[in-house]
Amino acid sequence: MSQNLERVRNIGIAAHVDAGKTTLTERILFYTGANHRIGEVHDATAHMDYMPEEREHGITITTAVTRCPWNDHFIQVVDTPGHIDFTIEVERSMRVLDGAVIVMDGVRGVEPQTETVWRQASRFEIPRMIFINKMDKPGADFERAMESVSEKLRGNPIPVCLPLDDKSIINLIDQTWIQFSGEHGEKVSVSPVPEEHQDLLELHRENTILGVADHNETIEEMVLMEEDIDAETLWEAVRSATIEGKIHPVFGGSALRNWGVQPLLDGVLKILPSPLDRPPAIAKDKEGNEELIEMDAQGPVIALAFKVQLWDGRRHVFARIYSGVLRPGDKIKIAGKNTEERIARVFDVDANSKTRKTEAVAGEIVLLAGLRHATTGDTLCKGKEFFLESIDAKSPVLGLAVETESTKDEAKMLEAIAKVCEEDPTVIFEEDEDTGQRILRGMGELHLQIIFERLQREFNLKLRAGKPRVTVRETIRRKGSADVLLDRTLKAGEKEILLKARAVATAKPNGRGEGVSWEAKPTLLPNGIKLKADQLQAIEMGVQDSLMGGPIEGAPLEDVMVSLDTVEIYEKYSTPQALRIVCAQAVRNALVDANGVKLQPIMKIEVNAPDEYVGAVLGDLQSRNAVITGQDPQMGVTAMIGECSLEKMLGYMSKLRSITKGRGSFTMEFSRFDAF
Ligand code: GDP
Ligand code: MG
Repeated sequence: MSQNLERVRNIGIAAHVDAGKTTLTERILFYTGANHRIGEVHDATAHMDYMPEEREHGITITTAVTRCPWNDHFIQVVDTPGHIDFTIEVERSMRVLDGAVIVMDGVRGVEPQTETVWRQASRFEIPRMIFINKMDKPGADFERAMESVSEKLRGNPIPVCLPLDDKSIINLIDQTWIQFSGEHGEKVSVSPVPEEHQDLLELHRENTILGVADHNETIEEMVLMEEDIDAETLWEAVRSATIEGKIHPVFGGSALRNWGVQPLLDGVLKILPSPLDRPPAIAKDKEGNEELIEMDAQGPVIALAFKVQLWDGRRHVFARIYSGVLRPGDKIKIAGKNTEERIARVFDVDANSKTRKTEAVAGEIVLLAGLRHATTGDTLCKGKEFFLESIDAKSPVLGLAVETESTKDEAKMLEAIAKVCEEDPTVIFEEDEDTGQRILRGMGELHLQIIFERLQREFNLKLRAGKPRVTVRETIRRKGSADVLLDRTLKAGEKEILLKARAVATAKPNGRGEGVSWEAKPTLLPNGIKLKADQLQAIEMGVQDSLMGGPIEGAPLEDVMVSLDTVEIYEKYSTPQALRIVCAQAVRNALVDANGVKLQPIMKIEVNAPDEYVGAVLGDLQSRNAVITGQDPQMGVTAMIGECSLEKMLGYMSKLRSITKGRGSFTMEFSRFDAF
């Protein structure tokens, strides 16, 4: 029995850190009966944050899908992690959503990460509603928060549920007064708006109606004719304009105070699209031709794997089905990988339990067991192969050396690392050839710390870690050149071999982001002799050898153009071996001559601190050579925005805590590699 898709809403909840996403999600699980008690973030029992690391760190890191029954519908919440280290998980889950609820802090309005998730949602054309949370806090301002949506996100906020006092809201479409009571606000009573609030209702309802009228002819007409607009017509207009991405309905309240959450859930059903309302997905076939994939159970099987997760020690794959039907026992292909494998089980998913299904149809998000190869970003097909656009990963900027406490655990550690890398494409594992060190590379300190803890706990390993080290790159500052003559005698047993050749190379900086390129001009020698294939190959290999690493410490090169201007051949003495050596040496010397420089990961940072600590925080940032480009004081808290090298920001979290007595917070995001 499959879900009736018209009655399903696949939504994500996204927010800036600490806006209240987890707190809100807990309320949703509680009111819908998906969870029987409310877990609070601060007592570390929150249901969605189910991995032990998440509880310790008090943040949400893993995408999980939870089904919540609400008014004869299912709201499927795809949990998106809030910490900037885990942006890829947000992107991954964003693309399989049909709609999103963006949570904002009623005091702070739009924050930097609100902008990031908003951009991601826009990229995948996800219809959005907004929940303005924390309206209980002093200084919270519903209208100012809405303004920040227009100004900073260029969104089109339309008020729907206006928070009133701390126990009620006014529904501007239904024109009702909704009060919450009971221990957890679970008792909801709906009544006409009392006389004393009529003015407020009229004032704000006018904004709702005019906002919708701009995008809906029926409403526009009714406004011009001064007709009464009934709730049903208005809901329908709000729904279609939201699905078209033209407006962003706004709800207000406080998750922590159990205020205004149920009307938000009603709003999700009324306003956000079901899988059937979404435009067809775009896929490419093997030849690169684009095709529209209609959401059709009769169509060919096409599904997107968007998350791999170990469950009871076994590998499971979260997938969204775009077309066709999947059943246990089905054989599926992984597009572009030439593998076929069998699905053993199909499950509906909850944050920590799963229910077997006999089939899953287009539009559903399910968990698949039995797949050994399918991984994040893969398109699963039957019959013709299609590729749903793949997910691009960001480059990991921080490395952590790891080793086992006892050498007998080494194989086990490598196996565990391989599993973790498979789950998370933003983790890269490297072995340093020279030092034999094993290095995990990831998106940030917290990211690596959590992976390190997982390796120990989940795989029962005892590990040691080095200090986190930033990934560096190298480039050159100016034009450099070198002229190298190789004239060397090698002894091979009794025989002596003469190697002789000459090469002239030039290196010059490329523009930032242009990468590394090279050219070799001399296919013809001055005397008209044409180079042979094995000689040409040796020259190329020599150049490549030296482009493997920069002139300072051999870090990967960026933005360099190298050309080989002359190669001089000395008859039989210019063997391929001689050519390879001389070209490598010429390129290497040219790079050294061009004055190498180290490039570091530069981060965009935002630090928030109560006003009384701003001086101390700025002083500390200055000592880290941070460049502060803006300060935004609001309600006693100042946001400081700027740039700093990642290296200087290591360990910043605990320093900030101690400077601000635990009241400061910060986020950072990779910007680029640059000299610092
Ligand atoms: P997340 O990072 O977006 O998941 O935010 P959390 O749900 O973890 O909440 C961050 C902090 O804000 C926690 O200490 C919550 O108790 C608190 N919080 C969440 N919602 C509200 C609210 O409506 N009002 C107030 N005053 N605090 C809230
Ligand atoms: Mg959270």
